[in-house]
Parts: sequence; structure tokens; C-alpha cells
Amino acid sequence: MTMSNWSAVKRPIPVPNDLTRAFWDGARRGELLFQRCHTCGNRQHPPAPTCTNCVSTDLGFEPVEGRGTIYAYTVMFHSGDRRFADAIPYASVIVELDDAPGALIAGNLLGVPYTEAHIGRRVRVVFEPLNDEITLPQFELDQ
Ligand SMILES: [Zn+2]
Repeated sequence: MTMSNWSAVKRPIPVPNDLTRAFWDGARRGELLFQRCHTCGNRQHPPAPTCTNCVSTDLGFEPVEGRGTIYAYTVMFHSGDRRFADAIPYASVIVELDDAPGALIAGNLLGVPYTEAHIGRRVRVVFEPLNDEITLPQFELDQ
């Protein structure tokens, strides 16, 4: 089974906004930051203006460990976006972190063939710098 050639992919670069800037600043430093509600303690991702549990607007960003399980995945066989053509087929994963149950984060499963993506498989975050400003949280198997 061949590995995806991510080095040849020219990814679209995320553009931080007021809601997501802290998340991207953390990723650049190698920290995965999730929103935490100061009213009820709920951790959530992606960033939102209100708590998804209690609708409080008293939210901050705190580090999470970055280990969890694959909640869902899909395998991309077609390159609708030609920039990803060198990587197909590849696995996109949705991950539920151990210390943020219910919050889901998307990424690619790196370092192994796409056939290694399975629901419930242990993964950990790794950080893939795209340029000086943006680093993308991604995932690899946590053996
Ligand atoms: Zn809350």
C-alpha cells in the first residue's frame, strides 16, 4: 500500500479571524487549544461565539493533550481540488480527544497508508507548518 505524497500538495492556507486566531496562534507554537466555557466547563471545537452546552459567552482557550480516537473518517479517492492530486488516496479523520469528549476536530491521518484509518483507532496530534504564520494540526497513529 503506497503512502500519500503530501510534500507535493500545495494546500489552501487557512485565514484566521477574531474567533479562530487563538487556535492558530497555539498551533504555531505546537499547542492544541480548544475553547473552554468558564461557566460550565464545556470544551468545544471548532471555536464558536457561545458555549454549545449552556450558551454562555464567557469562553477562553486552553491547551488539550491532543490524544484521542478516530470518531469517523473518509478516504479521498478523487481530486476535485487538483492541489490534492498527489496525495490521493488519503484518509481524512474526525478525532474525539480524550480530554474534550464531544468536541471533534478534523485532520488528515499522516505517516501510514489510508487503509490504517479505522473508527476507534488511537491517534495523537502532530503539527505541520504550512508557512511562517499557519501550522496545521494533523494526526498520526498513537501506538
Ligand atoms: Zn457552557
